Amino acid sequence: MQEFDLIVVGAGPAGMMSAITAARSGCLVLLLEQQGRPGAKLRASGGGRCNIANTLSNEKFIAHFGRAGKFMIPALRAFDRDALVEFFAGIGVECHAPDGNRIFPVTHQSDTVVIALETEIKRLNIQLLCGQKVNGIDTKDGAATGVSSNTQSFASDKVILASGGPGYPSLGADASGYNLASALGHQINELFPAMLPLKTRETWVKNCRADTVGKVEMLINLPEAKKIQAKGDLIFTENGIRGPVVLDFAREITPLLKKYGEVPLLVNLTQGMNEEQIRERLKKAFASHKTGSIADLLITFINRPLASELCKLANIAPETAFAKLPGQQRDNLIKLLSATPLTVIGHDGFAAAMVTRGGVSLKQLKPDTLESRLIKGLYFCGEIVDLDGPCGGFNLQWAFSSGHLAGRLK
Ligand SMILES: Cc1cc2nc3c(=O)[nH]c(=O)nc-3n(C[C@H](O)[C@H](O)[C@H](O)COP(=O)(O)OP(=O)(O)OC[C@H]3O[C@@H](n4cnc5c(N)ncnc54)[C@H](O)[C@@H]3O)c2cc1C
Repeated sequence: MQEFDLIVVGAGPAGMMSAITAARSGCLVLLLEQQGRPGAKLRASGGGRCNIANTLSNEKFIAHFGRAGKFMIPALRAFDRDALVEFFAGIGVECHAPDGNRIFPVTHQSDTVVIALETEIKRLNIQLLCGQKVNGIDTKDGAATGVSSNTQSFASDKVILASGGPGYPSLGADASGYNLASALGHQINELFPAMLPLKTRETWVKNCRADTVGKVEMLINLPEAKKIQAKGDLIFTENGIRGPVVLDFAREITPLLKKYGEVPLLVNLTQGMNEEQIRERLKKAFASHKTGSIADLLITFINRPLASELCKLANIAPETAFAKLPGQQRDNLIKLLSATPLTVIGHDGFAAAMVTRGGVSLKQLKPDTLESRLIKGLYFCGEIVDLDGPCGGFNLQWAFSSGHLAGRLK
């Protein structure tokens, strides 16, 4: 059996980065991938444009991962976004941040990134074997000794598990990596689909599908989650909501949905105006429209379909003259505008989840090396670890940074 200095399981961004880092320091590396080609999710990322990182400082970056974020400090210190951009420049991929925040390859094509990584893997003589599904990590006396795949076994006293999460099985993802980890005693914190559209009980949403609603503010209307809020653009769908704010917030909602069966939300669709500001805005609009209907006044700050649906929710005919609206009804409408209730009742699960919440418990990993505390010589990186971030390059930066740290064997 051929022996390697390192075997990496999974050729996603985390696995490819760990293999390249180890090979650059002179290690003989085997990279095993169950699919026909590396980087299926990387290729699909950012709508095919590949948002690899963002321009936030490490401190602000970490804050987006919640309390567990501090686990990332050693990985980011060793390889932050500047190091990542430099790394890509070194393999021929120039990057930029066109909006000053999200970092993309200048080509805006994820293939540029994947091809450059594949070329570097070849240049470094990393042995990449595709079509190899690893179904066991071999150990002896509490230390890694190699892996077994669907066709053969390979020996190494260093193994990196970079097998990602189960989201988007249409891209070949599955949960086999978690089974490999738990077979060796690792705790897998419950997995939830994250970063996906949500279904609502309210059916009026389908009448508002046309436009993106900007700068929406959203909070979960449950006592235990009141402090969790999100801001961003929202898009109504046939049966619910999607868009950046929803994708970001979904990771907070899916665990609560499992617990309660439904999750009430309060959504401000008026770019964050409070009741007083909405009242003032309506008065101003009335002053310049005088004869306008309530819908005519509302469309000065929300789109027409939404204006119409919110009027209906407040039991007001949209064509009612604002001047004739009784005070109580006006108050109800203003309240509804500042906090529109929506109830999340479902989602499409991992089939539509770009990211996974949960995974290999951080408690069982050493943050300085990402080595398991249970099995010597076994390392974890990327999405398989119990860390997940919002939209905007957070998850790929974590995959690359953690891949780099895990691959620093010498
Ligand atoms: C549609 C979509 C868009 C996204 N857009 C962005 C974005 O723009 N920015 C961002 O930051 N994040 C984005 N993400 C999330 C990001 O792609 C993932 O977080 C990231 O790919 C995780 O990297 P990874 O290397 O840990 O896992 P993966 O990319 O999932 O790679 C794991 C690899 O391991 C292989 N594997 C699994 N099990 C085995 C096994 N038993 N044996 C052998 N091989 C195995 C898999 O086939 C896979 O190739 C997006 C995700 C999706 C699905």
